[in-house]
Amino acid sequence: TQYVYRFGGGVSDGGSGDKTLLGGKGANLAEMASIGLPVPPGFTIATTMCTRYYEDGETFPDSLRDEVATGIAHIEGITGKRFGDEADPLLVSVRSGARVSMPGMMDTVLNLGLNDRTVEGLAAVSDDARFAWDSYRRFIQMYSDVVLELDHGRFEEALEIAKEDRGYYLDTDLTADDWRALVAQYKDIVVELWGKPFPQDVHDQLWGAIGAVFGSWQADRAKVYRRLNDIPGDWGTAVNVQAMVFGNMGDTSATGVAFTRDPSTGANAYYGEFLINAQGEDVVAGIRTPQYLTTAARAAANAKPLSMEEAMPDAYAELAAVFDRLERHYRDMQDIEFTVQQGKLWMLQTRSGKRTAKAALKIAVDMAEEGLISREEAIARVDPQALDQLLHPTLDPKAARDVLTKGLPASPGAASGIAVFDSDTAERRSNAGDAVILIRTETSPEDIHGMHAARGILTARGGMTSHAAVVARGMGRPCVSGAGSISIDAKAGVMKVGSREIREGDIVTIDGATGEVMAGAVATVQPELAGDFGTLMEWADGVRRLKVRTNAETPLDCRTARDFGAEGIGLCRTEHMFFEQSRITAVRQMILAEDEAGRRVALDKLLPEQRSDFVEIFEVMVGLPCTIRLLDPPLHEFLPHEEAEFAEVAQAAGIEVEQLKRRAAELHEFNPMLGHRGCRLGVTYPEIYEMQARAIFEAAVIVAEKSGEAPIPEVMIPLVGTKRELELMKTVIDKAAEAVFADKGRRIEYLVGTMIELPRAALKAGEIAEAGQFFSFGTNDLTQTTLGVSRDDASRFLGAYVEKGIYARDPFVSIDVEGVGELIELAAERGRKTRSDIKLGICGEHGGDPASIAFCEKVGLDYVSASPYRVPIARLAAAQAAL
Ligand code: PEP
Ligand code: MG
Repeated sequence: TQYVYRFGGGVSDGGSGDKTLLGGKGANLAEMASIGLPVPPGFTIATTMCTRYYEDGETFPDSLRDEVATGIAHIEGITGKRFGDEADPLLVSVRSGARVSMPGMMDTVLNLGLNDRTVEGLAAVSDDARFAWDSYRRFIQMYSDVVLELDHGRFEEALEIAKEDRGYYLDTDLTADDWRALVAQYKDIVVELWGKPFPQDVHDQLWGAIGAVFGSWQADRAKVYRRLNDIPGDWGTAVNVQAMVFGNMGDTSATGVAFTRDPSTGANAYYGEFLINAQGEDVVAGIRTPQYLTTAARAAANAKPLSMEEAMPDAYAELAAVFDRLERHYRDMQDIEFTVQQGKLWMLQTRSGKRTAKAALKIAVDMAEEGLISREEAIARVDPQALDQLLHPTLDPKAARDVLTKGLPASPGAASGIAVFDSDTAERRSNAGDAVILIRTETSPEDIHGMHAARGILTARGGMTSHAAVVARGMGRPCVSGAGSISIDAKAGVMKVGSREIREGDIVTIDGATGEVMAGAVATVQPELAGDFGTLMEWADGVRRLKVRTNAETPLDCRTARDFGAEGIGLCRTEHMFFEQSRITAVRQMILAEDEAGRRVALDKLLPEQRSDFVEIFEVMVGLPCTIRLLDPPLHEFLPHEEAEFAEVAQAAGIEVEQLKRRAAELHEFNPMLGHRGCRLGVTYPEIYEMQARAIFEAAVIVAEKSGEAPIPEVMIPLVGTKRELELMKTVIDKAAEAVFADKGRRIEYLVGTMIELPRAALKAGEIAEAGQFFSFGTNDLTQTTLGVSRDDASRFLGAYVEKGIYARDPFVSIDVEGVGELIELAAERGRKTRSDIKLGICGEHGGDPASIAFCEKVGLDYVSASPYRVPIARLAAAQAAL
């Protein structure tokens, strides 16, 4: 097998398609060389050698010696210099290069090939003794650190003392003799720390460096980086050995890094930095302040030092031509390293550049419009999740932050406001004009008004599908949930984080995209839904098959979702409407009633309220399908807690407080999530669903008459497990519909269907489809019931589960394709077999997750439904899934 691949001087044994074998750096060096760009000649030792090196107990096969010798000969042939030659030595760099970039994780050795004799040769041919001795001392320092693993502090110390002794301030103040003296000291340090003299044989140096680069693949920091970035340990790294070019050969030499477009805004302008008379690590190390590449950038920043465009116009012009060439060749924005040696430009690296969401969008749209890529490629290049950054106000990345703690990034966006620890206060302070952050141990449906009034929500408990997280995403409020290190004393109006205290009224900031919680205000920047966003969305809509609906229950959320392109409502959770101040008493009266007659009295009060809710929603969503789910949560969620609330309900119902309390106690459940909820409420108290159905159909008739266009209600029954449940409920709904239509003298088209959120429902989908016209997969509950993992308590252990690889991702965020996914696939298939035109959708939180959307496309669902702010994400993800 071949391990060494050459590049440069008209030879390229590999190309950009060989990243697996040659690593990203090696493949792109070969590619650049093959298209005639100025690349110093060199060779790459393949990643397969890294794997073999470890298999063979960290040794090299003999055959590699011959191959490396051929590689060195290749470099010698092109440069006309010889490795180890005392008169005119070839110097090389030795760098790592894995399949994907692992910035700063692995080792590099520069100036290799210098020793006590070749340094004299370098001084002579370069006509610059200072440069030669500076290069030698850099080499000893780097080699000792990376290969010999000696304490680099000792070398830095020696340099500092040398500067102090001579009264110098900068490294550039040192003369050739100063560096020569320092080299002697460095060599003494090596003997002292290593017990042997610094290696003088250039081949020993080379093999030492190659071994060190392969060795760095298993360094602790590299292992940690791989774990965090899901990079398999058996990929290995390649080693690139390349002729040195010098950016530190005086004022006609320089080194720099650049992007072909602005990685932060996406603007089509070169963006980069360079340093005159410097070597690569000087730019990265930040010892000297780099200069701007372009004059425009320098002028915009009001900086004095000349731009490269001004200081080295010829090299700059050549570089600009290379940028254009690379972009056209790779058809993507490139991140580049270059060196100018005595006026001559050399390319050291190119790769696709990392970029912000904003830049990703702009670059994709611009490149498609420039004809560089197709629209499909543009669609594929933008990470849907990253759109989040664009839809919500975000923290100004330049602003200082006083981070208190970190929780889960439950709902994106950033918000600052005064800390408030209960919902009534949140509403009161907000009405008084304060920006409020609602901080709760956890939230319940009773906090809706406080959450609505708040700019942002912070909870100490609860995961990504906890009440706070779901509701906040629905409302488009930033939310950090499960910030376990805070403890809240709501009564005292104080929250503790470690040794710090935040009192009611203190300003705090949350970042729902990172989970950070900060003391004080942090400046934010507003989103720009400018042209590029609209353009890409339009292209995405042109290719996607899946429809995108929204989970919304207020007219405001519906409006937001429509503006973001929602094509209907996939889930309107009617219980959220029951918590409004004006109706909660009637709701409680209904729940606590002893019998049907009592319930009907309360339901009569609720009917007009529900009707007006639906009128408002239908008006916003006119012409679009609206899935309205009948009452779902366990009744105890609506119960009164305070004495005054009991008194109020007792009065409304005309009964004694004591009797009411007894009834409330009766409603207690041990496991309410599996208790008296969902369609079980409708089965036991059909009059509740009857009232809701009436309200829906009356509202539909009202809107149809008013606007001339009838809404399309899809009445949805939650938590169904059997066909009989759905049949019973459908009868109740159909009866209510007929009554309304007879009464109003007008019919409305409607559907009755069910959620699939129990494994039994998925298994019996064939039968259930006989009774229902559509299925909507409630993957929050379906995940909970299939995995037997409580969606409200999972955050305590799911992190460990993901870390240990039991689940690849949080199954409440991204569908567990193997388990829950199999049930969905099976239910879809069985449902369709019974009813070929059955409408299939998903309304769990997964409806806004790109990986889950890809799964929905594969299964052939008709639509996904996501909270309003995730509608654009879903549109793009659906398009990508269809490509
Ligand atoms: C679900 O269970 O996935 C669902 C959408 O319903 P909810 O979150 O209201 O239980
Ligand atoms: Mg559910």
